[in-house]
Amino acid sequence: MKAVQIFEYGGPEVMQYREADVPQPKAGEALVRIKAVGVNFIDVYHRTGRYPGNLPFTPGMEGAGVVEAVGPEVTEVKPGDRVAYAMQPGSYGEYTIVPAAKLVPVPGNVDDQAAAAVMLQGLTAHYLSYSTYPVRNGDTVLVHAGAGGVGLLLTQMAKKLGAQVITTVSAEEKAELSRQAGADHVILYTQADFTAEVKKITQGKGVQAVYDSVGKTTFEGSLNCLRPRGYLVLFGASSGPVPPQDPMVLIKGSFFLTRPTLAHYALDRQELLSRAGDLFRWLEDGSLHLRIEHKYPLSDAAQAHRDLEARATTGKLLLLP
Ligand code: NDP
Repeated sequence: MKAVQIFEYGGPEVMQYREADVPQPKAGEALVRIKAVGVNFIDVYHRTGRYPGNLPFTPGMEGAGVVEAVGPEVTEVKPGDRVAYAMQPGSYGEYTIVPAAKLVPVPGNVDDQAAAAVMLQGLTAHYLSYSTYPVRNGDTVLVHAGAGGVGLLLTQMAKKLGAQVITTVSAEEKAELSRQAGADHVILYTQADFTAEVKKITQGKGVQAVYDSVGKTTFEGSLNCLRPRGYLVLFGASSGPVPPQDPMVLIKGSFFLTRPTLAHYALDRQELLSRAGDLFRWLEDGSLHLRIEHKYPLSDAAQAHRDLEARATTGKLLLLP
């Protein structure tokens, strides 16, 4: 089979598209023939070594396809099932091994590309808005990178829950997409001081929660956007990691700071199936819109990474084996 492999950390060029052995499933595992791979920012952290692991490895944390074979003791899926998964390494290939408990059955009227596109970013938007800071009707929340993969989905979910949603984006084309996803106010944070704009929009009150995936360049401003007892949900570092902080920074509003990750919000199969079930139902009834903007052949994974890191993308990027 063909797969992308990384032998040393570095730029997009370290991703080699080459021949590899088809892996065999062990107990509790399934072999999945990948139809579509979701690209996520975490793939960049793995490639550069910001999240170090064992070399060599095949990157990619999300995909959809068909179960080809299962190992012993697998009860969750069988060969021929259409499945999708997230947060399991190794998806940039024609085949991959996934623990069966991480596989979610895909309904008949959700296609492979949509299934691959919705899992990681959709589950993330779901836990952020329903669990980490559960959005309440009438809240005002701020979502950074509002036209990004997570941003577009999170905006839709926060609107569904009854919030007024303010987003930030870097360019006018992205602002339009963010508005289409339901944003009530969009701030071009590369041109305006987003904290001052948020204060203006909220008549000085600030927001109940900031969902911040940008990190280094936004952290301080995000804190200054909160109303007393507000939540700073720091869930990514697209601009780089936030430097160490003194907990006293929270005292100016008795703020809450959390650094959540999907692994802790899909702790068991029931939680995973429940969140994924919501996503698939919303796709089927048309209340959640996916924006699959970029599709690349798997052999062009390096270009997908270049585009993502250059802030040149909106919505979801897929690789097609
Ligand atoms: P996006 O599609 O949001 O792409 C990243 C966006 O971040 C860019 O398009 C850009 O939007 C913005 N950005 C701001 N500053 C920079 C910068 N210096 N370099 C690059 N981008 C920048 O990616 P994803 O939706 O895949 O992921 C968003 C973030 O969420 C990532 O940080 C990711 O790691 C995190 N994440 C965390 C999860 C968790 O459970 N904790 C799970 C999933 C994702 P603009 O041009 O508008 O500024």
